[in-house]
Amino acid sequence: MAIPLVNLSRQHEELHDEIREAIDGVLERGDFVLGSEVTEFENEFAEYCETKHCIGVGSGLDALTLTLRGLGVGKGDEVIVPANTFVATALAVQHVGATPVLVDHDPETYAIDTHRLSAAMNARTKAIIPVHLYGHPADMDTIQTFAQEHGLITIEDAAQAHGARYKGRRCGGLGQAAAFSFYPGKNLGAVGDAGAIVTNDDSLAQWLRTARNYGSAVKYKHTIRGFNTRLDSIQAAVLRVKLRYLDEWNERRRWLACEYGKLLGGTDLILPIERDDVEHVYHLYVVRHDLRDALLSRLQQHGIQAGIHYPVPIQTQTAFARGCMTSGPLTHSNTMCDQLLSLPLCPFLSLDELEEVAHVVTETLALAKQSEIKTAVS
Ligand SMILES: *Cc1c(COP(=O)(O)O)cnc(C)c1O
Repeated sequence: MAIPLVNLSRQHEELHDEIREAIDGVLERGDFVLGSEVTEFENEFAEYCETKHCIGVGSGLDALTLTLRGLGVGKGDEVIVPANTFVATALAVQHVGATPVLVDHDPETYAIDTHRLSAAMNARTKAIIPVHLYGHPADMDTIQTFAQEHGLITIEDAAQAHGARYKGRRCGGLGQAAAFSFYPGKNLGAVGDAGAIVTNDDSLAQWLRTARNYGSAVKYKHTIRGFNTRLDSIQAAVLRVKLRYLDEWNERRRWLACEYGKLLGGTDLILPIERDDVEHVYHLYVVRHDLRDALLSRLQQHGIQAGIHYPVPIQTQTAFARGCMTSGPLTHSNTMCDQLLSLPLCPFLSLDELEEVAHVVTETLALAKQSEIKTAVS
């Protein structure tokens, strides 16, 4: 019995009829680009995130890039980003001509270490992009206080945190704007590429709506140099179906994470934590251990697909060798990439499967310990 990291086929099997009906609706209407499903989804997702506006775009990367541009971040500016994140966060900064400044992360939550913000700041610093990595909200109060003190823009990278809460408020409504990705494997995923920005800022929202559509708010009137990055109507139709299940799915993720915690709590694995007053949505269930590679290969032998998020830190990627800066030592980022392991987790993982994963992990660690004892005795 193979266990995938994320089981999307089970999700689509369960929603098959609803999704087919939604797609058929678009096919019948023929409003493939910026059709009624897009508007409906934008309204529903803005409401879900407790924000005024949602603007659907082509991907999470485009959501970040467009937002930076819309808020006037560009050449000569520096933007503080965590080193431990998917490359898109830093790449978006480079795409607008600004320089990402990488900062190390908190070893417990894996989000940006707020103690290191001051050291990363100078006269060129224009913005900060906290990432709610793995589904655990970043320390937004501290970040917002820092940003306000220094006149910085805050853009949340919420690509892994659909539905997560920080002090009761949804991630996405905690800064000037937030970027979401609906890449299929995310907590809310489309059946292809898709993304969105949510914000309470009226003028930014208006700029984004124009910019994503060739710089045109009125057909054939082009007021700015725009882009073609619109959320597809078919993707929006699928997202509307799935949005209705998001809270239920996140609850299931939280429950499964709790079950992992019970089964793995007795081992010396470092398990994910959930800070007081946040609601973690476990986009990924990331554990840490020195024997990561042994665990990974033994899981593979048992047909269990685990992942590494992320194996190669941004500071060592060829594409970031130029036009990217670091602030302070990136000790956690440089060392933890060899210890991180994402165990299978999605709302469609069964308890039996979870127990199987936990069993293989526990057994591997016990075997490792035994051989350690043997070596010590001999
Ligand atoms: C997935 C992801 C993105 C990019 O989203 P795409 O839709 O793939 O462009 C950005 N940031 C983070 C943290 C992500 O996980």
